[in-house]
Amino acid sequence: MTDSSFASLGLSKEQLANLDSLGYEEMTAVQEKVLPLALDGKDVIAQAKTGSGKTATFALPLLSKINPRDFGAQALILCPTRELATQVAAEVRRLARHQKNIKVVILCGGQSIGPQIGSLEHGAHIVVGTPGRIKDHLRKKTLRLSRVNTLVLDEADRMLDMGFMDDIETIIKQTPRDRQTVLFSATYPDNIESLSERFQQSPVKVSVESLHDEGQIRQLFYLTQRSRKLDSLVKLLGHYQPERAIVFCHTKDATREVSAHLQKMGIATLALNGDLEQRDRDQVLIQFRQQSCRILVATDVAARGLDIHELPVVINYDLPKDPESYVHRIGRTGRAGKEGLALSLLTDREQHKLDGIGAFQGSHLTAEPIETLNGSATMTPPDFVTLCIAAGRKEKIRPGDILGALTGEAGIPGSAVGKIDILEYAAYVAIHHNVVAKALEGLQRGRIKGRSFKIRKL
Ligand code: ADP
Ligand code: MG
Repeated sequence: MTDSSFASLGLSKEQLANLDSLGYEEMTAVQEKVLPLALDGKDVIAQAKTGSGKTATFALPLLSKINPRDFGAQALILCPTRELATQVAAEVRRLARHQKNIKVVILCGGQSIGPQIGSLEHGAHIVVGTPGRIKDHLRKKTLRLSRVNTLVLDEADRMLDMGFMDDIETIIKQTPRDRQTVLFSATYPDNIESLSERFQQSPVKVSVESLHDEGQIRQLFYLTQRSRKLDSLVKLLGHYQPERAIVFCHTKDATREVSAHLQKMGIATLALNGDLEQRDRDQVLIQFRQQSCRILVATDVAARGLDIHELPVVINYDLPKDPESYVHRIGRTGRAGKEGLALSLLTDREQHKLDGIGAFQGSHLTAEPIETLNGSATMTPPDFVTLCIAAGRKEKIRPGDILGALTGEAGIPGSAVGKIDILEYAAYVAIHHNVVAKALEGLQRGRIKGRSFKIRKL
């Protein structure tokens, strides 16, 4: 896949020798993912933990741009604390060893401001500091940021936790708009998202923590046209014949349209969206779990909190806007040591989303035309049918009572009875489709716990 040697990056010979002398042999994961983007001038928002090698990740790109003859601050690195700023400055100096006359200045609170003003007067190429003190210098006009070409927010979530939001804003507004902004954060709360949205330009999102065990999920992307998405979905289903799958759509309307189309094509499908009453929602989920419905079409919101994991297949009918949602969606497959399959449709206009998803995972992803697939235009029906019994916990019905009624009087073999779910007012039982008529008739005729209840097929 990707080359993890620093030599692959196009750094100067001198820098490569310096890295070698510092014992940097191979790139760390964050370096491997972020350095090519950052050296290319891209804005990056990266999720990475302490000790992952962030300093070199932002320092190498900014050092490659420093003009030693220009003594205006060309790079500004904001850190949450004095200790971190001091460590970062030390590492930046080590990484700049081979470049002559590069000055790094530390500006933090808890130290007298006089000497800081003194060193700024001599000029500084790189400023490392905490937001509070940097703002002080801006107010005193002892620091100017008009020459800054790279802004780094290191451990941004911690800075916001410490209440530096306003200071950071004030500082950023004094830097040129066409700067490169690199943001690191161990977490992505909303305020980080909004900071990124306001101050970064088309940032590439990168996550280093592998959110899934690598290789557990096969991801395939198929190129189609907007007007042909419904047919393309049928094609996907016909080709892969998933035992069960969730199909994700952007909107409620789309879930309706898609499920109606699949039903029309004879594919056992149900839609799950926010408009459903609790009771209907329960029934949809039970049918899906009982394998009497193969395909569940849902929005992200409707699928939230669903206790449905270990799906063999997840399908993105609509690709989500951001890579994190994508990763979240496909995380419902490939669990418990089984290989999962994530299938996505995309239109030619959505190529950028594919790039974003690839960058986020640190891999290069490509899409195939949907025409490369062949398969039957339909799917085999589900193995089970769900029967609903109008009696539940209220009537003290237990699974054994239902199983007993089916295998006793109704004469259904136990092997043809699937999962049983008992809710407050109703119970649901999965019956193999071969014997469903017999089971329905038997239950309607017979008794459960000595009483007869209404039974219907879902
Ligand atoms: P972070 O800021 O993510 O906590 P640092 O940038 O401070 O991590 O790096 C942690 C340590 O690892 C430092 O001592 C640094 O010199 C070292 N280091 C970083 N990258 C490499 C590498 N590619 N090879 C060897 N050592 C590295
Ligand atoms: Mg650090």
